[in-house]
Amino acid sequence: MRSKKTNVILHCLTCHKEEKIPYNVVKDFDLMDGGNPSTPPRSTGEQCGGEMYPQYYKGIHGHEHKLSDIL
Ligand SMILES: [Zn+2]
Repeated sequence: MRSKKTNVILHCLTCHKEEKIPYNVVKDFDLMDGGNPSTPPRSTGEQCGGEMYPQYYKGIHGHEHKLSDIL
């Protein structure tokens, strides 16, 4: 099994902490969120409960999500 060592950086919108998440894990979030390709996978900051948004993520259907889109 070949695995890409690609990480997605999730940026917390509240405390601006960044976390690296393996692409495969983020992709699973994406698949679980009801299959809406126009919203990126998101996570919640463990420390502050803030919303974590991917700095850059290209979805399984080719949609690109960038942090700069929402700032
Ligand atoms: Zn935070």
